[in-house]
Amino acid sequence: MKVFKFGGASVKDAGSVRNVASVLKRFPSDNLIVVISAMGKTTNALEHLTDADFFGKENPISVLDEIKEYHLDIMKDLFPDTSHSVYPAVEKIFQEIKKRIDGTPSGDYNKEYDQLVSKGEIISTLIVSEYLNSEGITNKWLDARDLIKTDSNYREGRVDFEVTGKLISNYFSSFKGIAITQGFIGKTPDNLTTTLGREGSDYTAAILAYCTNAESVTIWKDVPGVMNADPKWFDETKLIGHLSYHDAIELAYFGATVIHPKTIKPLQNKKIPLLVKSFLKPAEKGTVINNEPSQLPIPCFIFKVNQILLSISPKDFSFIVEENFSDIFNTFSEHKVKINTMQNSAISFSVCVDNDSRKIPGLLKKLRENFRVLYNENVELITIRYYDQSTIDRVCIGKKVFLEHKSRYTVQLVVKNI
Ligand code: ASP
Repeated sequence: MKVFKFGGASVKDAGSVRNVASVLKRFPSDNLIVVISAMGKTTNALEHLTDADFFGKENPISVLDEIKEYHLDIMKDLFPDTSHSVYPAVEKIFQEIKKRIDGTPSGDYNKEYDQLVSKGEIISTLIVSEYLNSEGITNKWLDARDLIKTDSNYREGRVDFEVTGKLISNYFSSFKGIAITQGFIGKTPDNLTTTLGREGSDYTAAILAYCTNAESVTIWKDVPGVMNADPKWFDETKLIGHLSYHDAIELAYFGATVIHPKTIKPLQNKKIPLLVKSFLKPAEKGTVINNEPSQLPIPCFIFKVNQILLSISPKDFSFIVEENFSDIFNTFSEHKVKINTMQNSAISFSVCVDNDSRKIPGLLKKLRENFRVLYNENVELITIRYYDQSTIDRVCIGKKVFLEHKSRYTVQLVVKNI
C-alpha cells in the first residue's frame, strides 16, 4: 500500500484535477490510499462562512453562494453532461451546509466550525473521485470519518489511535485498488465531525500509512520538494534531496509549511519513508525523508510573519518561578495559543506567538489578571537551522532584534523592520 496526499493547490481548478488523474495514471498497479484536501482556498472560505454565520456580521448565504459557484465552475468543466450523478451528490452537501446555517448555531464556535469547514474535503473528494472514475481510474470513495476517531477537542481533534488503528487495518486488510478519502477530518464517539487542525491532511495521510503499514507516503506539492527556504521570501532557494526524520520534525515544528508538524512522528515510529514531490513534475525525485541520519548541507530558513512578542512579569516585580510558569502555560493552552519561541529572565518571560485576532485579546485579558503584560506587534520570527554567524548577519540587515535564542543547530530571532 502507498499513501498519497494532494493538498488544496493540487485540486484548485479543473486543470489541476486532470493533473491529479495524470499523476495517478503513473501508478497503474499500486494499491493506493489517496488523501485529498478541500479545493484551492475553500477551507479559508468556509472559515469565513462560519464567522458570518456564527457572529452574524455578514450574510452567510452570499458567502456560501460564492463557494458553491466556485465548485460548480470546476464541475461544469470536468462533467459537461449536467445529468451526471456528481451534481446531486454535491448539491446534497450544499443543502446540508444551508440547513446548518439556517438553524441556530450551537453556541460553541469550535464545534460549529468543524461541522461546516469539514464539508470542503467532502465536496472535493466527491468531485475528484467521480472524475477519476470517468477517466477509467476506478476508485472507492471513502468517508474518512468512519475510520478516524477523535475526542471532542473541536478544531484540534486528538486521534484515538487504538480505535482508529483497528478500524483502518480492518478496512484495508484485503483492500485492493485505489481509495479516495479526505484529509483533515474525523469523528467523535458521538458522531460529530472534528477537524485535526489547519493543514491537517498530511497528518491524516500519516495516520493511514501508520495503521496500514504502508510502504511510503507521498505528499504531492506545487514545489519541487522541501526547499531550504520559502520561495515567497527568498529569490534563491535550493531543493533538499534528503532529510532525516529528525531534521524534518525540527523544520516542521519551527513552522516550515511544507509538512504538518504532526506528520513525521507516526512515520518515524514505523520507519515509513515520506516523499515530497512535485505534482507538476512527478518524474523528478523531490525530497526523501527517512531514518538515515544526515546533516543538511545548507542553512534552512523559516519565516513567520505577523507575530506578537509578549513579555510577561509578576505584578509585584518578584522573580518568575515555577509556579508562575505553570499558570502561564495553562493559560496559553486554555486559549489554544501555540508558543513559537520563548525565553525567560529573572523577572520576565518572553513568548512569541502568531498574532491571531480571534485568540490574542482573550489570552491577554486572562494573563493580565495575574501578570503585567507588555507586547510588541508586527514582529517576525526567523528560525535558521544549521546556522552560522554570516547567515544570521544577513537576515538581520535592516531589522532590530528583540530576542535571540540559540541552540547547537538552531537559532531563533524575533525581529522587526527598522
Ligand atoms: N483543507 C485543510 C486546510 O486548508 C486541511 C489541509 O488541506 O491540510 O487547512
